[in-house]
Amino acid sequence: MRAESRKTSRRKFLKESSWGVAAASALAIAGSGQDQKAKAVPSGIGAIVLLGPPGAGKSVQGRRLSEQHSIPVISTGDLLRDHVKRATPLGLQVDPYMKAGKLVPDSLMTPILEDRLSQHDCERGFVLDGYPRTLAQAEGLDALLKKKGVASHVLLLDVPTERLLKLLAGRRVCPRCNRSYNIHFQPPKKEGVCDADGEALVQRPDDKEEVILRRLETYAKETQPVIDTYSRQGRMIRINGSQTPEQVAAEIEAKLAAP
Ligand code: ADP
Repeated sequence: MRAESRKTSRRKFLKESSWGVAAASALAIAGSGQDQKAKAVPSGIGAIVLLGPPGAGKSVQGRRLSEQHSIPVISTGDLLRDHVKRATPLGLQVDPYMKAGKLVPDSLMTPILEDRLSQHDCERGFVLDGYPRTLAQAEGLDALLKKKGVASHVLLLDVPTERLLKLLAGRRVCPRCNRSYNIHFQPPKKEGVCDADGEALVQRPDDKEEVILRRLETYAKETQPVIDTYSRQGRMIRINGSQTPEQVAAEIEAKLAAP
C-alpha cells in the first residue's frame, strides 16, 4: 500500500470504527514524544481491561471483544489453569492457591503476564480478563503500558452479589475450548455438552460453593481497592453486568465509542 493511501485508510478507520476514539488516543500517546522508547507503538485499540467480580461474565465479553476486533484475550485464570493442567513447575506452585480460591502471589503472576504481553499478537491491542486484581498489579500494569505507549480502557462489569452466587454455582465450562455456560442463564443447546465441540461440560474445582465464597471475599479485599483507585482517577467505565450478554456487549461498544 502506498504511504498516502495508508494514511487515508487509517483516517477512515478512525472516523468510521467504533474503536476510533480508542485508536486515536493510542496514536496520540504514540505521538506525544514523552518517551522515545514508546515509539514502537501499536496503532490498534490498545489495552481493554475487564474488571468485575468472579462470575460477572468477563470471559464471555472478553471472547466477544477478541473475536470482533481481532485482538487476543488474555485471561490470567486460563493461563494459570493451562500451567496446572500441564503440570509445569509454575503450575505446581500456583495450584494450591487456585484450589483455595486465593490469589496467586504477584511474584509469580507478574512475569507470566509480562511475557504474554510481549508476544507479537498483542501489538495491535489486547483484552485483559482477570488482571489486575491487586493494587500492585494495577501499578505494574500502568507502568508497563506507559513504557509501551499503549492506551488503556478500563471496564467494570457490575453485578450484585446474590446474582453472582447463582452465576458461579451454575457455571459449566468446556475442558477442551474453555467456553463457559450457565445452567440458569445461558445453557448450552444440548444439556451438559459444549455447543462448539460436543465435549462434556465440567464444573471448575474453584466453582464449588465454599471456594466461591472465598473468591468473593478475596475480590472484596484485594480487587475493590483497584476499582476505587481507577474510579478516583476517573478512568472507570461502568457497565451493567446484570443484562443479557448481548445487551452487555452493546453497552460496552456504545461506551467505548463515546467521546
Ligand atoms: P474468577 O475471576 O472467576 O475468579 P479466574 O479464572 O479469572 O476466575 O481465576 C481463577 C483463579 O486464578 C483465581 O481464583 C486466582 O487463584 C488465580 N488468578 C487469576 N488471575 C489472577 C491474578 N491477576 N492475580 C492472582 N491470581 C490470579
